[in-house]
Amino acid sequence: MLNYNDIIKDDNKDLRLKCEPVDLPLSSEDLSYLLSMNEYLEKGYEEDSEKKYNIRPGVGIAAPQIDVLKRMFVIFAYDENDVEYHFGVINPKIISYSEELTYLPSGEGCLSVDRVCQGLIHRPKRIKVEFDYYDFETGKCERITARLKNYIAVVFQHEYDHLNGILFYDHINKDNPMYVPENSTPIKFK
Ligand code: ZN
Repeated sequence: MLNYNDIIKDDNKDLRLKCEPVDLPLSSEDLSYLLSMNEYLEKGYEEDSEKKYNIRPGVGIAAPQIDVLKRMFVIFAYDENDVEYHFGVINPKIISYSEELTYLPSGEGCLSVDRVCQGLIHRPKRIKVEFDYYDFETGKCERITARLKNYIAVVFQHEYDHLNGILFYDHINKDNPMYVPENSTPIKFK
């Protein structure tokens, strides 16, 4: 089982590499990576997960974070309306972005970044994406297109960035970390 020590941190240069596409159907090796990333996120929702399993909870984890340089990640998150999103994402493409931006008022965090990075990250508020959707309940995998907005769009883009060697703090305005562009509005949680 994966724990926090298995997640590579941002002093590891592998996190800066561009990942390779995943061959489909999934090989048993790739499937096992996907399942263990999912297990990590699931366990993170259990009480005392840090003490019990040495897991720092997260809402998304990308394969390069366990040093597997392939284009896949897992999301297990609840959006600003408490709607659950839980699936594997394989070979994603972001087809289009809104001009309107959004941001998390408290900034973003990352399992690979072991410190607080002050600053806001503004991302497109709505995205249209295409990816192979892996359903952990049925084991089914199918190519879908979807429109995502607000919190889930932010999580998706954060994980997607990992596949291209980009970390969230790369997006922080260095001269003015708390800068808010005119076209950006905060995500409001219920
Ligand atoms: Zn991250």
